[in-house]
Amino acid sequence: MQFRTRAIHVGNEPCPQTGAVVPPIYLASTFVQHEAGVWREFDYSRSGNPTRSCFEETIAHLEGGYGAMAFGTGMAATSCVMAMLKSGDHVLAGSDIYGGTYRLLHKISNRAGIETTLADSTNLKAFAAAIKRNTKLVWIESPGNPQMSITDIAACAKIAHDAGALLGIDSTFATPVLTRPIELGADIVMHSATKYIGGHSDVMGGVLVANTEQLYKDLYFVANATGGIMSPFESYLCSRGLKTLELRVREQSKTAMLLAEWLESHPRVTKVRYPGLKSNPGHELASRQMDGGFGAMMSFDIDGDFNETKRVVGATKLFRLAVSLGAVESLIEQPASMSHASYDAADRAKHGITDGMIRLSVGLEAFEDLRDDLAQAIG
Ligand SMILES: *Cc1c(COP(=O)(O)O)cnc(C)c1O
Repeated sequence: MQFRTRAIHVGNEPCPQTGAVVPPIYLASTFVQHEAGVWREFDYSRSGNPTRSCFEETIAHLEGGYGAMAFGTGMAATSCVMAMLKSGDHVLAGSDIYGGTYRLLHKISNRAGIETTLADSTNLKAFAAAIKRNTKLVWIESPGNPQMSITDIAACAKIAHDAGALLGIDSTFATPVLTRPIELGADIVMHSATKYIGGHSDVMGGVLVANTEQLYKDLYFVANATGGIMSPFESYLCSRGLKTLELRVREQSKTAMLLAEWLESHPRVTKVRYPGLKSNPGHELASRQMDGGFGAMMSFDIDGDFNETKRVVGATKLFRLAVSLGAVESLIEQPASMSHASYDAADRAKHGITDGMIRLSVGLEAFEDLRDDLAQAIG
C-alpha cells in the first residue's frame, strides 16, 4: 500500500466494541488484570497505553522501522537516546543541528561524562575523521537547522557502523514523506512530533523509531524507566496529524519551492538556503535522498544588520513571528535571537548563523499571499 493509505489505515482499526471509525482515546492510567502476576497487553500507562500504541504503530510502519516510542516532547525523545550512553562515551554530531540538541549535549550530557564533538556532516571526510575510539553515537539532521544542509545518510551510516557506533537522525524537517532514514541504514529516527506530525501548532510530542527489536527494547527500557511518555490526548492528535501528513508536506514543499525561487531573485536577499534550488550545494544529493520534494523550511540572508533583520521578521502579517515550524500557518523568525539563541555566540558565528539570517516555515496558505507578505516586509 502507498504511504498515504498506510498513514490512514495502519494503527487505526475501528473500535471492536462500538465500531467507532476513529479509535477512542484511552485516558486510563491503569488496567485491570485477570490474575496476579499475569499481565495483559496493558497494565500501566507509563509502560504502554492503547492510544499511544496506535500512533506508535503507524509511525513505525511509515518509517519502515521495527517499533516506535512516543514522548511528551521531541527533546524527551532525544534525551532517551542520550540516556543510553554512559560516562566515557563520545557523541559525534553534525554541526547544523537543532539548538536544543546542542544544549542537551553541551550542558546536560557533559555532566554525566559524555563528550561531544560537532563536525560538518556534509563534509564526509572531515566527519569521519572526527570519529573517536569511544564514539558510540553519531547524530545528524538532514535537512539541517538552520543552514538546510543536506547530509548523506547512507554514508553516515557506514561511518558510524565502521566505528561500532549507532546512527541516530533527527528527521523532523524531512518527515517520513520525504526521507526514510532506516531504509538508508540509520538505526534510530527521531521526530519532534510538535512540528509536521502534529501539523497544526497545537500539540507537543516526540517520537523515536528503532530499526531492530534489540534496539527498540533498549530504548523502551530507558523510556519506561525515565517516564517522558506522550499523553493519550497528544497521541490522538498525532495519529490524526499523520493522516494528512503527506498531503500537507507535499503542498507546503511546492509553495516553499516557489518562494525560494522568488526570494533568490529579490534584490535585497543575499543568500537563500533551500535544498530545492539548483544553487544549493546539497541539491543533487537531496534530489536522490528526498522523495519528490525538498521540504517547507528555508532560511535566507538580507543585506541588513541585526536590527534591520529584526524589523523585517516583525513586519510580516501572515507569517507569524514565532519559533517552531511545520504547521499549516507560516512562521518567520531570526535564528540569532530566537531558535539558536542557546548556541554560544562564537559557535553561532562558526556555524554560519548570521545576524541577517531569517528562517521561514512555509505553511498551507497560497503562494501569492505569502510572497506579497514577504515583499511588503522586506521592502
Ligand atoms: C523542535 C525541534 C526539536 C525539539 O522538539 P520539541 O518537541 O520542541 O522538544 C528537535 N529537533 C528539531 C529539528 C526541531 O525542530
